[in-house]
Amino acid sequence: MSACPECGGNLKFDPKQKRHVCQSCGLAVTREEIDEIRSKNTSLNTNTEDEKERRRKDYLKWWSTKK
Ligand SMILES: [Zn+2]
Repeated sequence: MSACPECGGNLKFDPKQKRHVCQSCGLAVTREEIDEIRSKNTSLNTNTEDEKERRRKDYLKWWSTKK
């Protein structure tokens, strides 16, 4: 049993659709799509751009207080 990549609900394999169907939100995905969505979500959660921006602002703040 695997968890839905969208809501974390239970996925049940549907032989008719050849997809795993989420019992909570109704998402129907193949095994490949589950992996794809999971990897996308992981990269979104990392938020590399925001982290860079935050560090830049911290640096600017430090620089302006130094004067
Ligand atoms: Zn779901």
